[in-house]
Amino acid sequence: MMSSSLVVPVIDVQSNNFKELWPAIVLAFKTSSFIALDTELSGLGARKALLAESIEDRYKAICHAARTRSILSLGLACYKKLEGKADSTYLVQVYNLTLLCAEEYVIEPQSVQFLVQHGFDFNKQYAQGVPYDKGNDKGGEPQGVNMRTLFVELLRANKPLVLHNGLIDLIFLYQCFYAHLPEKLGTFTADLSQMFPAGIYDTKYATEYELRFTASYLEYTYKKCKLDNSRSIETAQDGPHVFLEFCNYTGRLQSYVDYRPCIDSHSSDGPLNICVQFSAYGWCPSGSRCPMSHDTDLIIRQDEKSKEDKRKKRKRRKKKKAAKEEEEEEEDGPPQDKKAHVEDMDEDGEEKEEQKEDEKVDGKFTAHDEEMPSSETPAAESHSDPDKNESDAPQTHDPTPDATNKSPKASERKVEGGTHRAGFDAFMTGYIFAFASIRNAEGPDSWIPACANKLYLSGKSVPLHIAKSTFSKSSRAHMTKMEQVWRKQFPKADGNA
Ligand SMILES: [Zn+2]
Repeated sequence: MMSSSLVVPVIDVQSNNFKELWPAIVLAFKTSSFIALDTELSGLGARKALLAESIEDRYKAICHAARTRSILSLGLACYKKLEGKADSTYLVQVYNLTLLCAEEYVIEPQSVQFLVQHGFDFNKQYAQGVPYDKGNDKGGEPQGVNMRTLFVELLRANKPLVLHNGLIDLIFLYQCFYAHLPEKLGTFTADLSQMFPAGIYDTKYATEYELRFTASYLEYTYKKCKLDNSRSIETAQDGPHVFLEFCNYTGRLQSYVDYRPCIDSHSSDGPLNICVQFSAYGWCPSGSRCPMSHDTDLIIRQDEKSKEDKRKKRKRRKKKKAAKEEEEEEEDGPPQDKKAHVEDMDEDGEEKEEQKEDEKVDGKFTAHDEEMPSSETPAAESHSDPDKNESDAPQTHDPTPDATNKSPKASERKVEGGTHRAGFDAFMTGYIFAFASIRNAEGPDSWIPACANKLYLSGKSVPLHIAKSTFSKSSRAHMTKMEQVWRKQFPKADGNA
């Protein structure tokens, strides 16, 4: 299948090359059409509080986590739309920053275990992590080349920011690189709306309410978008389609690049021994020991097949119904009974199937969150976001596509992971956004208007709106920061004139 396999260059950023790469990163911010972002965290604390019924309570719990835990790595994917092309062609630059919080922070044993299993290198983090201080600026404006000034550059670039299930990422970003978090959620969202005036987009929200795929966890959504896009190209459907281009890194730069393959497994033969839990949530308590398949490609194909089967069944049933009615008119006795009986069985079967799917959807929003015993859950927290991990499944981790495992042998395939998760997750998030945008665009650069400034909330049917309401004030620390962010630009502009 064309364009389905892909090698994504991820630039590895750490303290020994941060200064060297700084100009390239800032230029990528400034020239991008949108920026996708993902984080990996040292933990999230008690899962239940993060899914509290009240959103204000949830905010408080996540704030507590952000004050006591830290961001271990940051993934940035800068998507620049290339002009003059019929399709949506993007030049993509992906950075994976290894970070080290300079203050004490909590790291949960489960998170460590999870991260190590997924290829996170703690030696590298302690030896080479880019250091940062949390909370408010410590005296004066932050200057020089560091994480806090990089975050200021991200704000100055003023591009749409794209995340997958992004609430937790945003709260951690604010606390780690910007300022102390405000007490009230309303203040936080008011601040965010001024920090990112070009809009914040949550691809999990877009997946649930615009794309409407069977599942919405990151890897599933990304692979489904990629599959639909390549099918559309193959069958020569009218565009636009998404095409990606990457820089050709040479010289010294090349030594910082990790080429991350993303290969689809196409062999769909053999028994479909798919793990139901993983299929629905992108997470399963047995993790790599699960005997069932966690292959996202296989899961997508199975979902597509069951949709198609249902469609056919419905069609068949309609035909039978029409035939039955005809027979009734002809007053045919016995054969009619027989047919009716067959049809009932058919219907039963179908009903059961639909029910199963309902449970799947329901589980995503409710039961699962409560029922997942925390002892069994891996430190999902570790992973970027719990939900990104699918928030739905609270402790999930998003399975990273294990590109290197082509062979569908379950035991081999389950080495979920690979390094540079944050960078690659940001890349996948950006791809989903690019794909959803061509499906929903109301004009060039209109992105997905229906999804602007709406963050996905696990277990809620309504999103969190990022806006400044008439009742909410901006925080003082934020006002001071905004002055810095915009002031510095003016001298520069004057200098150019
Ligand atoms: Zn499983």
